[in-house]
Amino acid sequence: MTADPELDRLAYDLDRAHVFHSWSAQAALDPLVIAGGRGTRVWDHAGRSYLDFSSQLVNVNIGHQHPAVVDAIREQAAQLTTIAPSTANLARGQAAERIVARAPEGFSKVFFTNGGADAVENAIRMARLHTGRDKVLSRYRSYHGNTGAAIVATGDWRRIPNEFARGHVHFFGPYLYRSEFWATTPEEECARALHHLERVVQAEGPTGIAAIILESIPGTAGVLLPPPGYLAGVRAICDRYGILLILDEVMAGFGRTGRWFAFDGHDVVPDLITFAKGVNSGYVPIGGVIISDPIAATFDERVFPGGLTYSGHPLAAASVIATLDAMESEGIVENARRVGAEVIGPALAGLAERHRAIGEVRGEGVFWALELIADRETREPLPAAAMGALKKDLVARGLLPFVQDNRIHVVPPCVVTDDDVAEAVSIYDAALGAL
Ligand code: PMP
Repeated sequence: MTADPELDRLAYDLDRAHVFHSWSAQAALDPLVIAGGRGTRVWDHAGRSYLDFSSQLVNVNIGHQHPAVVDAIREQAAQLTTIAPSTANLARGQAAERIVARAPEGFSKVFFTNGGADAVENAIRMARLHTGRDKVLSRYRSYHGNTGAAIVATGDWRRIPNEFARGHVHFFGPYLYRSEFWATTPEEECARALHHLERVVQAEGPTGIAAIILESIPGTAGVLLPPPGYLAGVRAICDRYGILLILDEVMAGFGRTGRWFAFDGHDVVPDLITFAKGVNSGYVPIGGVIISDPIAATFDERVFPGGLTYSGHPLAAASVIATLDAMESEGIVENARRVGAEVIGPALAGLAERHRAIGEVRGEGVFWALELIADRETREPLPAAAMGALKKDLVARGLLPFVQDNRIHVVPPCVVTDDDVAEAVSIYDAALGAL
C-alpha cells in the first residue's frame, strides 16, 4: 500500500467529528488510525506499522486478513449475503456442525447471536427457563458483556445503572496473588474459594439459583488461571444443588489458551457454553451459545422466547467455517500452545527478573498478563498515570498493547511467531526500562 498521510488525517478527523466511542469520555480521545493488516501486524495510511499484541479486543486469534477466511467471505457474499434466522442455510448448518465438533459429548445445538454479550444474555435466559429459577451467581472479577443482564453478571462493572438487574449475586473467585482468603498456596486458595462459593449458594437459597456463570479463565479481569480442581469443584457444587453451570468462553475459547476451549483438561463439563471472538476472529460479528442436549430438549415443545435478525448471518457463518478449518489444518491452536510454553512464558519471566515493577506473570498459550506494581511488598498497583504513559510509549515504539487497570495483557494472535515474541519483548523491555 502506498503511504498517504492525507488519508490518515481524514480518517482521524472524521472519527473525531462523528464517531462516538465505547467506554470513554469523548473529549480526550486520541484514537490510532488503522487502515490495513496482515497476520500479527497492522498499519495506518501513512506507512507506520504496529505489532499487534492486543489481537484488537483479544479476538483476532487467526491473525489479520487470513486469505482463506477473506476468500470465504467474498465467495459467500457473491452467493447470498443475508437471510432470516428461521430459514435453513448450508453455511449456517456447517458452522454449527464445526462448533459442536469441538465441544464435549452431549452438545449438539448452537444458538447464534451477534457477539458475546447477547450470547451471555441468552444463556442466562435458557438457564432460567430450564430450571424455573431466577438467581444467577457470577464472580466479582469478571467481564461478561455490556447489555442488560450481561453487564450485571459482570462483577467489576455491576454498579452501572440498570433497571433490568434482578437476581444477580456475586462471589469471590481464586486469585492467589491478591487472595481474598488469606491463602498462600494454590491448593489452599482453591479449597477456600470453593468453600466460600458453597456458603454463598447456601445463604442465597440454592432452590432459587438457576446458574453460576464463570469465565473459564477471567480475561479482561486479569487472565486469572483457575487453580487445579477449581472448575471441577464448582461443577460439583452445581450438581449438589441442581444449579446449571455456564462457562463463558467468549475470550478464552477457540485457541487462545492453546486448546480449543479453556476448560478442556479441567475435568469439567458445563451445561451451556458461550462463545464469540476467536470462533471467526471477529471478521464478521458473530457469537452464540452451545447448548447441552437436556437443555435443548426443554425447548422441543416449548417456545424459546428469543432471537435476533442476524442470528447465524451467512457471511459470519462462512467465516466461521473457514476459520476453524484453517486453524485445524495449519496447526494454529498447537502453535499458540507451543509458543506460549516455550517462548512467551520464559521471555516474560525474564522480563520480571529485570523489572521490579512486574509483580506477577501468569498465563498460558497466547493469553498472558503482566501485573504491574508500585511496591513489591505491598503489591500496590502501578498508578493509572504511569500505566497511561507506558501504553503511549509502547505504541510509539511500534507495539499495540492491551492495557487494563494495572496490567499489560500479552495477547497476540495464535499465529504469532518466535521472532514476533522476541521483537515484542524487546519493546516491553525498553518501555519498562524507561518507566
Ligand atoms: N464475555 C467475555 C468473557 C468477554 O471477554 C467479552 C468481551 N470482552 C464478552 C463476554 C462480551 O462480548 P461482546 O463485546 O462481543 O459483546
